[in-house]
Amino acid sequence: MKANVVIIGGGPAGLYTALSVRNHDVLVVEEHKSIGYPKHCAGIVGEYVAKSVAGLSKRIINASYRRIHFLTPMGRVELDFKKPIAYHVERPLLEEVLASRVESLGHRILRGVRAKPGSLQCVKVRGDCLKFDFLVVAEGAGGLFRGFFSRPIKNYLVGLQVVAKTVGLPEDTIVLIYDENSPEFFLHG
Ligand SMILES: Cc1cc2nc3c(=O)[nH]c(=O)nc-3n(C[C@H](O)[C@H](O)[C@H](O)COP(=O)(O)OP(=O)(O)OC[C@H]3O[C@@H](n4cnc5c(N)ncnc54)[C@H](O)[C@@H]3O)c2cc1C
Repeated sequence: MKANVVIIGGGPAGLYTALSVRNHDVLVVEEHKSIGYPKHCAGIVGEYVAKSVAGLSKRIINASYRRIHFLTPMGRVELDFKKPIAYHVERPLLEEVLASRVESLGHRILRGVRAKPGSLQCVKVRGDCLKFDFLVVAEGAGGLFRGFFSRPIKNYLVGLQVVAKTVGLPEDTIVLIYDENSPEFFLHG
């Protein structure tokens, strides 16, 4: 097996990279069977990213926010803006749209296959050696390739994502809650 450009990871970084490559044979390797799943992002982005991804499909941006409420142990701060200051990106729709664009260029996406580091010339997929001229590692927080090519990650920040229903709060509001469990970095400044 061979491809000019092998990209590890079918997240936004890997897919955007694949989109920008022309005149080369590109193969994206994604360990999950469905691109963008499991969903692992709250999808809040700033104006620049919102404008960039809205160019792919208007449906991708499905909410905007012009209020931020900070709830901190020191008190509550509410900021209101005239224009939206943050947007919500619909994921995994973002990845799905990117993937279909990538494939429409003739590039390939190998789904449901975990790549493993092999050598400086090939990566291992399903036990075979996949040769490449260029390798792009876009594995997200996963450190398999990062560990092989540079240094393994020693410490991860553990995060918890929950979906909460709010009552009596304007829909265009982001609420940031800081409590005694928040890292000190966020509490003092
Ligand atoms: C809980 C949570 C909330 C977040 N909220 C926000 C937010 O509100 N706003 C924001 O901007 N960002 C947010 N992020 C961060 C955002 O999700 C990431 O910055 C973004 O997804 C990074 O894109 P990426 O393509 O680099 O990595 P990823 O999206 O992680 O994609 C990497 C892909 O590589 C695949 N992969 C990894 N290793 C291999 C391998 N060996 N073989 C094959 N495939 C492999 C993975 O399956 C994955 O699909 C959040 C993240 C988390 C975890």
